[in-house]
Amino acid sequence: MPNGYAGRILHVDLTRGSLTVEQPEPGFYRKYVGGSAMGLYYILKEMKQGVDPLGPDNILTLMLSALTGAPISGQSRMSANAKSPLTHGIADSQSGGFFPAEMKGAGFDGLVIRGQASRPLYLYLHEGVAELRDAGHLWGKTTSEVDDLLKQELGDDKIEIAQCGIGGERLARIAAIMTMANRANGRTGLGAVMGSKRLKAVVVRGAGKKATVADGTALSALARRGAGEIKDNADVNGLALYGTAGVVMPQNAMGTLPTRNYNEGTFEGAEPLSGEVMAETILTERDTCYACAIRCKRVVETEFLKQKVLPRFGGAEYETLACFGSYCGIDDLHAVSLANQICNEYGLDTIGTGATIAWAMECVKEGVLTEDEIGIPLHYGNAEAMVRMTEMIAKREGFGAILGEGSERASRRLEKGEEYLITVKGAEAPAHMPQAKRSLGLIYAVNAFGADHQSSEHDPMIESGATDQYLERLSLLGIKERLEDRSLGRGKVEFAYATQKMYSFLDSGNLCQFVFGPAWNLYGPAETVEAVRAITGWDDFSIDEMQTIGDRRLAMLRVFNQREGLSRKDDKLPKKFFKALGGTGPTAGIALDPAEIEAAKDMYYELAGYDQDGNVQRERLQALGLEWLI
Ligand code: SF4
Repeated sequence: MPNGYAGRILHVDLTRGSLTVEQPEPGFYRKYVGGSAMGLYYILKEMKQGVDPLGPDNILTLMLSALTGAPISGQSRMSANAKSPLTHGIADSQSGGFFPAEMKGAGFDGLVIRGQASRPLYLYLHEGVAELRDAGHLWGKTTSEVDDLLKQELGDDKIEIAQCGIGGERLARIAAIMTMANRANGRTGLGAVMGSKRLKAVVVRGAGKKATVADGTALSALARRGAGEIKDNADVNGLALYGTAGVVMPQNAMGTLPTRNYNEGTFEGAEPLSGEVMAETILTERDTCYACAIRCKRVVETEFLKQKVLPRFGGAEYETLACFGSYCGIDDLHAVSLANQICNEYGLDTIGTGATIAWAMECVKEGVLTEDEIGIPLHYGNAEAMVRMTEMIAKREGFGAILGEGSERASRRLEKGEEYLITVKGAEAPAHMPQAKRSLGLIYAVNAFGADHQSSEHDPMIESGATDQYLERLSLLGIKERLEDRSLGRGKVEFAYATQKMYSFLDSGNLCQFVFGPAWNLYGPAETVEAVRAITGWDDFSIDEMQTIGDRRLAMLRVFNQREGLSRKDDKLPKKFFKALGGTGPTAGIALDPAEIEAAKDMYYELAGYDQDGNVQRERLQALGLEWLI
């Protein structure tokens, strides 16, 4: 068995109730490495075109990589893929925590889940054994209830659980797959896919079994070096101290904190939502993922409207603070923390939920929707109504059933509010504003699973404020010089594509992008290669191979969408991005230029080997070893 891997993929057919173990060849692992690329391999090989994403023919994959579970920071992550019920293109989302390392210890590198069970089931993996068990008693239970019940039933409080939540059971298209009741494969509706299969949970227990590491001495030297450098790296140390919530104030200062449904980039109420205020007030502890020395996860305790916010549901991340906070014109950290808890308890994507509520708030402000229609006074700044609507979406009650479909479907169903949508390919955009980060705007448009902030490096890393460290590391990816602020010329497109390939590798190697990455991270491209070599023993693994694997995944994502009829016409940004921002901050009056974006798309397609309609060309598939997709 290749170093780093368990050497086994489990195939689950829920319709038949069958479980089959595959032992892939070493060459398969080296070509796809793991995560999203490995999941896409099965999806593209086996899923028919045009299947119902909430039907039995959708295939859900949960994949790890060679690095998962190794004793170094930033490796305990899992990729989930399927056809998305939200976008009808590919679904792709990563999560961290302890589940991935535990699943590797249970003896599996990945799961390929087909079919649809006739009754609720859960899958139990332990010490190389897989069993399907009845989950009737877990159906309708919240994430924390399921965690408690399963630990009791199996008599083991060390199990890790991935579950679809009530949101997924009720097929909310913004439902997440949850682990630990506070980590999520949040984006693109994967919780609904799991719920549609009546697979309530996957339970894993590794009992301490570890995959082999080729060069343990080199790996521990790299792990020690990284842990020792946390305090010297200002970006990473900020993450350790304040979590991703530490980004609120810098974003606000740059004018890139989406405010009142992306109408402004600076929020007068940013400070009360900041990581610094969270640390001074409601933070009780810092949490981590398996073996990670950074400990960026937040644990909080507070209350809002007499409802307790409990530590087990974790603290809000930056995206959550922005989407339920500034996006909705709300400056109440306690209310946002409660909304975060509701999403984690029911299994909802906090970005999709917060952004959809913000869309409804703008519709109310513009008189397109009335508070009577909605049933509650859902307007900017009303924290109580925001929390109530989050509950209504979670339970699919009243107007919440409509908003649980996501803002774009809600707009179509209601036949209103289309001009206020902040969606790409049907998925709500995260909280980084492309009006100032132009290359991010390009990636928001072309990314196969909708606007995503973790699919490429952000513009400031190569603009006037770039440090020598950023530039030195980016030069390893072929990006050699600083570029003009807010520009989107050829240099920026090359920067976007080169860093997108590295991020794409990270989502295949299942590596945390706060630990490994192209510029500001704890480890740069050279150390990422060092980690892969030490774990796998692939001594000739190089930055070029890393980038090729990233590129291979990008082509596979794109080909899936091509088969589903998506093309350049779908690489489209929301209309609002082209309207000047309001407010008084540094981005007031700024808008994206449609001609600039179209020209950037042309350049991007050329670099990526796509034709001008955005389809991956035959020659590129051949060059990437994907002839089987032609
Ligand atoms: S940096 Fe944070 S999210 Fe990443 S592995 Fe460490 S604790 Fe987890």
